[in-house]
Amino acid sequence: MEMTEETLKEIRINIGRAKRSEFYGKYFSDIDPEDIKTEADFVKLPFTEKDDLRGAYPLGLRAVREEKIVRIHSSSGTTGTPVIIPYTKRDVNDWAVMFKRCYETAGVTKRDRVHITPGYGLWTAGIGFQAGAEMLGAMALPMGPGNTDKQIAMMMDLKSTVLCATSSYALLLAEKITDRGIGDKIHLERALIGSERWGEKMRKRIALELGVRLYDIYGLTEIYGPGIGISCDLACGMHMWTDYLHYEIIDPKTGVRVKPGEVGELVITTLKKEGAPLVRYRTRDLTRELTGECGCGMKYPRIDTLIGRSDDMVKVKGSIVYPSRVDELLATIDGVSSEYQIMIDHMNGKDIVTLFFETEVPGGGYDGLEKTVRDSFKAAIGITVNAKAVGMGDLPRSEKKSTRIFDNRY
Ligand code: ZN
Repeated sequence: MEMTEETLKEIRINIGRAKRSEFYGKYFSDIDPEDIKTEADFVKLPFTEKDDLRGAYPLGLRAVREEKIVRIHSSSGTTGTPVIIPYTKRDVNDWAVMFKRCYETAGVTKRDRVHITPGYGLWTAGIGFQAGAEMLGAMALPMGPGNTDKQIAMMMDLKSTVLCATSSYALLLAEKITDRGIGDKIHLERALIGSERWGEKMRKRIALELGVRLYDIYGLTEIYGPGIGISCDLACGMHMWTDYLHYEIIDPKTGVRVKPGEVGELVITTLKKEGAPLVRYRTRDLTRELTGECGCGMKYPRIDTLIGRSDDMVKVKGSIVYPSRVDELLATIDGVSSEYQIMIDHMNGKDIVTLFFETEVPGGGYDGLEKTVRDSFKAAIGITVNAKAVGMGDLPRSEKKSTRIFDNRY
């Protein structure tokens, strides 16, 4: 996105604030915020990576006095040390303001009943959806994840009108509701689906089976949490709240900015955050900048729906594969559902790629369909895969983000 004088000024202030933390105090010890006079000066600043933040465990990111911190959140601790993000009162409020704006963009009003399935606790998900709904004045149903039977019962009895979920959990709910034939007892009108790369086919199934209009909501714990951007009624990418953050899109390999419209990794600098300001934080999310103004009339710039994770981008036999390309490809083949998994193994000096896909065709005798998938994959992506059909529901669904590509080569 373009950098205005105002943004540069906010960035200087943000760097000054960040330097009061133990982490940036050391990391930026020879950087003077007043030297950042132009965009060219700004892009010379080093990136901040998630591993750097892990090194600041537990509270090395805290950039204000202890008494100003009112809450912490933490991002995934499943792999190694978690990252702890401290929030001030203002941070908590700013986040709710952004989230309220997300709901408003999605047409949610005070009259809505907002069914929140993302997790509560150290995760930023549930509480972010809740704070925004309450600030808007809607009725929040703080369900949290799991217990699908209870979710559906509450959804019917309390007539929830807005569903907040990950795409895979929304799909699971949609499948259960369809299986039970209770679609007419569900009052959902809209669904806000947490940032994740998801394909057109899955989107259509969720929209159709739940009878909702879908919105992609973006965010990550390191930068407040979900709610820093959302798609509008026109569903053409996500508007980003650039009064609170500055973003760039870079080539994940070289770190150099890509041209507008080119796919790259999203990098975010906070503009107003007090508890844990971040500078040039690498999100690992792949997207691209969408140029031109949106037909909805909102001035906030847009990034495309997530294309994948830069860590998911795998190179096989000289070709680059990322999940959204596979989504798009499978969506064009009749009889193939939205769910698939790719396994990459290295055997006898060769990379072997196996693609499992769920098929909507009952029965068996999938040789023809498997051949179609294999041929299409070779033609579109340039790689030979072993295509294997499995039944509907045979691949795992998860309440968290689903993994599509498993690289077992290393
Ligand atoms: Zn728009």
